Amino acid sequence: MTTNWTSTLSVSSHPRDNLGLGYVYAVASRRSGGISVGINVNPNKACNYRCLYCQVEGLTRGKAPALDLKRLKAELKAFLVDASRAQRSVEPCSIRDIAISGDGEPTSLEAFDELVLALREALFESGLLGRVNVVLITNGTLVRRARVQKGLAVLATIRGEVWFKLDAASNEGIALIHDARVSPWRLYENLKVASSLCSTWAHTLCFRLDGTALLDVPREREAYLAFLGRAQKEGLPLGGVVLYTLARPSLQPEAPRLSAVSEAWLQALASDVHGLGLDVRVHS
Ligand code: SF4
Repeated sequence: MTTNWTSTLSVSSHPRDNLGLGYVYAVASRRSGGISVGINVNPNKACNYRCLYCQVEGLTRGKAPALDLKRLKAELKAFLVDASRAQRSVEPCSIRDIAISGDGEPTSLEAFDELVLALREALFESGLLGRVNVVLITNGTLVRRARVQKGLAVLATIRGEVWFKLDAASNEGIALIHDARVSPWRLYENLKVASSLCSTWAHTLCFRLDGTALLDVPREREAYLAFLGRAQKEGLPLGGVVLYTLARPSLQPEAPRLSAVSEAWLQALASDVHGLGLDVRVHS
């Protein structure tokens, strides 16, 4: 481990192996305006979704492989101690957040709770506990698992936040965008569980497929707003909703059919969501 790791970072490219480590990587993040440290527990590029916009090359169906806890702990401790020193000495190198996010669905890791506990331990030992935010980027489908719930409860103690994917709220929309059979009812129940355990924001990626955005289809927009309206009405403790569009090209076969929506389009949807009484952030 050296202290010049920031020289390998770029906002336009997010290679997972830029540090030469197995689990830990770092990116210069436009979203956070600084260094985002990532933890990738899906080196096998396995996910239970196949989103049309997924940027994972060679994505396969499946789950994360068994966790090498010893290696994860060693990498986290070595990297965070190093990064913590940089954070104190070189301002542009500031760590903005730590993202549990990689080449697949992180909560498909059997030992998800051990991952979060190891992160808490490393944050404590590096002096970063409570000084950086931790985000879990998830499709939210596996929240019923006891070890995922245990992990979310620990995440809540380390300035954690769940970014829960919500691109569509109909059976057809979910099947179209994620190539998966998950009912909106199940997603809602999962969102309810996640938000009861840890601060949770719904994240909606909006894009056009063959020129049409899913949420421009009246029944899809209605279903999406009804889903969020129900969450608001039933008092789910949601932080709010983040709306964003494509920033980097998809690496799925459908890539040529996809395009970004405009800032004005996102703002119009934001206005509808805001009308439900929810906080909205737009990242274009
Ligand atoms: S949930 Fe994430 S990793 Fe899985 S297919 Fe979708 S974008 Fe890719």
